[in-house]
Amino acid sequence: MGLRYFPFLGLGLPASERCFRQVPSCVLAVGCVPTWGMPLPARRLSQSRSYARPRMSEPTLTVDQYRAAVEAAVRAAISDGRERGREELRPIWFQPTPAPDRKSVPNALRVEVFRRDTFTCCYCLSKVIPEPILRLLGRIYPDEFPHHPNWKAGCMHRAIPLLCAEVDHVRPVARGGSNEISNLRTACAPCNTRKADFLLEEIGMTDHTDEISSGWDGLTGSYRQLWESQRDESGKLLDEAYQVLWVKLLSPAAQ
Ligand SMILES: [Zn+2]
Repeated sequence: MGLRYFPFLGLGLPASERCFRQVPSCVLAVGCVPTWGMPLPARRLSQSRSYARPRMSEPTLTVDQYRAAVEAAVRAAISDGRERGREELRPIWFQPTPAPDRKSVPNALRVEVFRRDTFTCCYCLSKVIPEPILRLLGRIYPDEFPHHPNWKAGCMHRAIPLLCAEVDHVRPVARGGSNEISNLRTACAPCNTRKADFLLEEIGMTDHTDEISSGWDGLTGSYRQLWESQRDESGKLLDEAYQVLWVKLLSPAAQ
């Protein structure tokens, strides 16, 4: 069945969508928040899961507390019925959070974070290497040290994710964290993957920023020389469009 239009009302929207356009302002007025970014897409306007009660203060729970609540709910649901199980889940009830405003960290800021942390993972103190340098080595040695732009499993050397420098948000973006440099840390890819959208205390990780004393440069001191010394069969610089930007950003002379 097609949607009916009321063009004489001037909005040119399907009547159903035009009605639902009022919903966000109503739910905002009673203190709820949209869980999708605004403006809400038309198909989300009428869905109750598009809106949520705001979370005033998010409790920080440990993995032990989550496990205890899940265990209690399982046992209560079996022995005392579904409602008792629900009560056991109360301390950890799921609450949707507003859709985060995911702005990627600008490249220059990434480099600033890596330099501040002397190319060292703040969580495990592993010395890391920026991906462009690993990628360049992959271009020089495509068979021995392959790099894949999307990190496709089986197509990339396993040292790359192990050594790759990434930027982590201490307070995750999904939990309201910002791109302020004070909220950013250098992390190795394994630590960054493990931390995901957790807070450090939730996942039992520690910020060791104050203990970094490596003086490691992430091989940035050799990067420009490596790039400029290598050519393809036709005499062209390798991966030029990508590398030229990063050589400029990462080379010590750019500081
Ligand atoms: Zn690490």
